[in-house]
Amino acid sequence: MEENILISYLNDFIFCPASIYFHNLYGDLEKKLYQTTDQIKGSNAHKNVDNRKYSSSKNILQGIDIYSEEFKIQGKIDVFNISNGVLIERKNKITEIYDGYIFQVYAQYYALTEMGYKVNRIRLHSMEDNKNYEIDLPKNNEKMDIKFRNLIRSIHEFDIENFSQNNIKKCEKCIYEPSCDRSKYANKT
Ligand code: SF4
Repeated sequence: MEENILISYLNDFIFCPASIYFHNLYGDLEKKLYQTTDQIKGSNAHKNVDNRKYSSSKNILQGIDIYSEEFKIQGKIDVFNISNGVLIERKNKITEIYDGYIFQVYAQYYALTEMGYKVNRIRLHSMEDNKNYEIDLPKNNEKMDIKFRNLIRSIHEFDIENFSQNNIKKCEKCIYEPSCDRSKYANKT
């Protein structure tokens, strides 16, 4: 994949590399047509940020576009406090810290750093139960940083022509299954 990677692709690529093609296919305008209830809840968690309602402080960056030349990734941050260097990514409800969550904030961290900001801390915030989860900076967690870099490399090198999904369980749960020609779902017609 030659083009820039959208940060929002990272989690889906971990689930199934083929799924990122459906983002390109459907785009944002058609979200309601295929998103599950949980996904819509997750999207709504970001609405205040996207609408710039989180804070009017000049020290708070909300929903701004970010880009990393090093990793060829682009997307948006959720909330970044310039004065104390705290980067926050809000989720509707966090029941487990998935690697995909961490890679998403690592991507934001690297892009912000390249853009000249100093990120001191990274935090995931679970909105429904108002819990915070502190995430190691990449420089303090070499193992996760290496996994992040390997993931980005895998996405850039990914070739859909040579891909087949062998895990039927993933296809069974996948919202893209009805449209996917790589599906291994047994009842696919
Ligand atoms: S249906 Fe299966 S192969 Fe297709 S995107 Fe979903 S998980 Fe991947």
